[in-house]
Amino acid sequence: MARLSTRVAAITPSATLAVDAKAKALSQAGEPVVGFGAGEPDYPTPAHIVEAAVIACRDVRNHHYTPTGGLPELRAAIAAKTARDSGYDVSPSQVVVTNGGKHAVHNAFAALLDPGDEVLLPAPYWTTYPEAISLAGGVPVVVASDVSSGFRVTLDQLEAACSERTKVLLFVSPSNPTGAVYPKDQMVEIGRWAVDRGIWVITDEIYEHLTYDGHQHHSMPVLVPELADTCIVVNGVAKTYAMTGWRVGWIVGPPDVVVACANLQSHQTSNVDNVAQRAALAAVAGPLDDVETMRAEFDRRRRRIHGMLAAIDGVECLLPEGAFYAFPSLEGVLGHGLGDTTLELADTVLERAKVAFVPGEAFGAPGYARFSFALGYDDMVEGVSRIAGLFSNT
Ligand code: PMP
Repeated sequence: MARLSTRVAAITPSATLAVDAKAKALSQAGEPVVGFGAGEPDYPTPAHIVEAAVIACRDVRNHHYTPTGGLPELRAAIAAKTARDSGYDVSPSQVVVTNGGKHAVHNAFAALLDPGDEVLLPAPYWTTYPEAISLAGGVPVVVASDVSSGFRVTLDQLEAACSERTKVLLFVSPSNPTGAVYPKDQMVEIGRWAVDRGIWVITDEIYEHLTYDGHQHHSMPVLVPELADTCIVVNGVAKTYAMTGWRVGWIVGPPDVVVACANLQSHQTSNVDNVAQRAALAAVAGPLDDVETMRAEFDRRRRRIHGMLAAIDGVECLLPEGAFYAFPSLEGVLGHGLGDTTLELADTVLERAKVAFVPGEAFGAPGYARFSFALGYDDMVEGVSRIAGLFSNT
């Protein structure tokens, strides 16, 4: 009998975290590494949020178990924030607080999927989605997109990928890893199609506040209200408030799904850390000024990294419309001695130029690479300059 279950043995380690760990290890060994791997803002959590956590530590109410679905105050604040930021009116009973957005993604799939149920998964995709689908017993059905469509899938593609087993469409805008933001019209089209087809939509809104050049985030169930009963919104504080380490996310969904997710969590994790929940409360109930400061700086870096990458021979790069990732095609660089695949290229670049990026293979998009620009401006310029130097010497 195998030592590990087939289910867990099939999980591939998170490539994004692996690249980051490798880069950090080299860095600790004294190497001058520039890391484009991490999907997290380089900013500290805003002071008023940290202060709320410090106060929460001293409050004995936070020393014990609290309701599995989240602190009632936080659920109410998330409902209010959802109305404020996306115009989606929901009640606090439609919110479950989770251990980060990643946990919300897992629980959303776990709540909906039976063995063999298919999930339409637009690629390039965030590396956790296919694993979460498979762990929940589902089958990811990849719907590919590339630079030519701005990394957006069309209705025809979705229709072609649909079968009798299709239960869910995973939707994310702004996207990790591509930075694509779907325009309103296309979202309305997709949302209506899902309603007509009786397909659920899990929509990941974690990058909602990080859009540029007038591209705007829209919330699918607001654009298509008929979808509300078959739609789960995933969100969290990680990206908006530079709170990746605090581990607070949430699900907004129809009441039966919310009850099911809370039941699941009651046997799985119990309540999310109360101190982190209090910090998240200060975040979502507070102002968005710090987010705007961060967004403006990401915008500056975005223009520069795009300009620098696009200027390298063999590299094709779209200007990211949201999130904090550039997702160039490196096809033109492959096969010239540095690597035949982006996986090999990433290793060579880390070894020879001491620059870490995540190869497209991690996102179902070989030939591409993800560069997070949530790192210091000067480091970013240095890192891309080193890559340009290495590529031009081949
Ligand atoms: N969704 C997307 C698209 C993400 O990129 C991430 C983080 N990389 C998450 C969800 C989860 O974020 P967290 O678990 O840190 O809240």
